[in-house]
Amino acid sequence: MSLEVADKAGACFGVERALAMVERTIDSATGPVATLGPLIHNPEVVARLAKRGVHAVDVPPEAPGTTLIIRSHGVAPEVLDRALERGNLVVDATCPYVKQAQRAARDHLLAGRQVVVVGEAGHPEVEGILANAPGARAVVEPGDLDAVEPGVPVGLVAQTTQTPERLERIAEALRAQGHEVVVSHTICAATKQRQEAAVDLAKRVDAMVIIGGRNSANTSRLAELSAEHCTTYHVEGADELDPRWFKAGMNIGVSAGASTPKAQIEDVCAAVLDLLGEGGEGPWQSPS
Ligand code: SF4
Repeated sequence: MSLEVADKAGACFGVERALAMVERTIDSATGPVATLGPLIHNPEVVARLAKRGVHAVDVPPEAPGTTLIIRSHGVAPEVLDRALERGNLVVDATCPYVKQAQRAARDHLLAGRQVVVVGEAGHPEVEGILANAPGARAVVEPGDLDAVEPGVPVGLVAQTTQTPERLERIAEALRAQGHEVVVSHTICAATKQRQEAAVDLAKRVDAMVIIGGRNSANTSRLAELSAEHCTTYHVEGADELDPRWFKAGMNIGVSAGASTPKAQIEDVCAAVLDLLGEGGEGPWQSPS
């Protein structure tokens, strides 16, 4: 029997950074602390924060002196302005890679290009990028390009979790329409690395356990990809593990979405080993 954690699994740089910023803020804040939207797509973490008095709010609170944490997805500049106007103390945990995409959108606009963002309209990160370049539009497929103005150069920016293949497909479609296209390569490698590592592991084990929020798109995608190669269980935490899934001698793989902290991976690994009758230390201590 073996238990192996995928080479790349769990919280990405931006999420780790946001979690660390929240911890520092809780330690140092003298007034109430809130996050603008759930900090990450991970119900366990959000519930733990709520127990410590850090609640998610939809809009900047009216109460001056509240410390408002901006999550890694980022927000529109107007939202930051409103928070400051209301007397909130802002801790901006926007991932630097998302900031890069926001800056790219602004730069394209200043250079006289119409801005097209490859990403899902309505996703908070995409909304934040769009808000940095008024008039920008979000597209996911070449079929969405009808509204792009003919004859005006296009600045193309990607939501950080998009695939390079989709970005290239949209760029090609724009060129085929006769546009001059300047592409900003703002895709973050974290999602792809986790997908590749999970698939690699899923091909070598009897079953996979994927850890992360069911509301986390990247975790659900990991589970889907893994399920193409072996029996796969998606759990939010160790308490969801079912003893009937595990039998002595099985080789189990573990992976986790980009919003799953390392501690959660360690809890699930320890519980799996218990169910397999192994216990003790395991190879899961240092997923990256
Ligand atoms: S997936 Fe990439 S861009 Fe998104 S928060 Fe993580 S490190 Fe930042």
